[in-house]
Amino acid sequence: MAQEDVFKKLVAHCKEYGFVFQSSEIYDGLSAVYDYAQMGVELKNNIKKYWWDSMVLLHENVVGIDSAIFMHPTIWKASGHVDAFNDPLIDNKDSKKRYRADVLIEDLMAKFEAKIDKEVEKAKKKFGESFDEEQFRATNPRVKANQEKMDAVHKRFVEALDKNDLEELKQIIIDNEIACPISGTKNWTDVRQFNLMFSTEMGSTADGSSKIYLRPETAQGIFVNYLNVQKTGRMKIPFGIAQIGKAFRNEIVARQFIFRMREFEQMELQFFVRPGEEMKWFEKWKETRMSWHKALGFSEDKYRFHDHDKLAHYANAATDVEFKFPFGFKEVEGIHSRTDFDLSQHQEFSGKKIQYFDPELNKSYVPYVVETSIGVDRMFLQVMSEAYTEEKIEKEDGKVDERVVLKLPAALAPIKLAVMPLTKKDGLPEKAREIINDLKFDFNCQYDEKDSIGKRYRRQDAIGTPFCVTVDHQSLEDNTVTIRYRDTMAQERVAIDKLYDIMKKEVSMKELFKKMK
Ligand code: ATP
Repeated sequence: MAQEDVFKKLVAHCKEYGFVFQSSEIYDGLSAVYDYAQMGVELKNNIKKYWWDSMVLLHENVVGIDSAIFMHPTIWKASGHVDAFNDPLIDNKDSKKRYRADVLIEDLMAKFEAKIDKEVEKAKKKFGESFDEEQFRATNPRVKANQEKMDAVHKRFVEALDKNDLEELKQIIIDNEIACPISGTKNWTDVRQFNLMFSTEMGSTADGSSKIYLRPETAQGIFVNYLNVQKTGRMKIPFGIAQIGKAFRNEIVARQFIFRMREFEQMELQFFVRPGEEMKWFEKWKETRMSWHKALGFSEDKYRFHDHDKLAHYANAATDVEFKFPFGFKEVEGIHSRTDFDLSQHQEFSGKKIQYFDPELNKSYVPYVVETSIGVDRMFLQVMSEAYTEEKIEKEDGKVDERVVLKLPAALAPIKLAVMPLTKKDGLPEKAREIINDLKFDFNCQYDEKDSIGKRYRRQDAIGTPFCVTVDHQSLEDNTVTIRYRDTMAQERVAIDKLYDIMKKEVSMKELFKKMK
């Protein structure tokens, strides 16, 4: 199946099974804003818990906060967002569609890369064991030609970004004959800068209202609380502050479902270190974060690091964790070495001394910062894209059945256990309820008595429930049930009092943490 079709099906599945709804749908929706539904909110909360516990419980020197979305407007002046949180936009005059100029160019480079990968894959199949990829890439004329084209675009692109040269960005688009995917024409406007922050007024006009911003990142809430947390928590450098919260960006192009939203959620860690030690910590956090992703057990080849072409004004090193979505490799998380930029700026703009006295060095300094910043929604999409599976099942009578199953890591699944009485009578529903009442304090359970058992299994597969338990007449006699495992569909008879242990082992986040380095 083409990857675009997989993505369309995934989006439809998210709606049909109560994971994600378009915001304000009965009013025809609000562009790039989404609501998490009854299943989605459980999965989202589990993702947040997986991140929070891995940061705050597993690291003695990391604490969390929850700062307000509204902040003093000068914070955004100090951080550089008022002047520089811009994206370069370009319009196609025929379709009237708006694009990010940098994204159009990045997509072009991704096309060259895809062509190269295709050649490499073909050759790998052809030559088998004896294939030397490095030599092939260096000598194959088609690969070399595409690589040269890609390098040439890349060089111009990086230079244009460095110089903030908007005319050159447009020229790259024109020279490479990039066309609008909607109109198919190359009739482009000039490139302009567009600030992504939403603003609003605080206070009534009679009192004299002031313009404030909806935060475009959660990080600044951490920086402006650095002194408070360090002092009241008696934190010693190196230490980190973690936060999960909403962020808002008036994105120019927002067409990929929950990948790019105007209201989204971030999970950020700001880790404060000694000046000069930031590269060591940058490498350490790169490794830790990648192992957090990989502990979920998704295919290894779906992840890569992508170093930034242009460093943000505050960074001296930056990389993205990219995941292979159905629409290609895209950023899920950014890891940045932010130097002492933010704290120094707040020191200057607030007039308050923001320094740390290091007893070992016997001197004071403004700490350096390494940041890890991941979008909850992109992580949600990553998990859903990897979990969504269509399977053909051969039945005993030779017929082929199909099922859609979400192979979610059990610890993240919205519902852990579905309990199903075989019939609605003879005391079976009561027995099923007894099991739920016993387990519901530890696991999210669902009771289901409607339709055939087969249909009920399919419904649970579609929402990723790892365990189903069927209560039948034998259960009343010997306190055993049939447990059915989602991925293998294997079934076995087990004692009801063994259910807790069976499930605990599989659904505990501890099992994921044990896989982390
Ligand atoms: P992009 O280049 O895709 O716009 P970014 O580099 O601006 O992303 P960061 O500022 O590094 O993103 O934000 C950290 C993380 O927050 C991203 O890796 C992503 O997971 C998430 N994020 C950023 N913008 C959005 C958005 N509009 N919708 C959903 N998640 C987002």
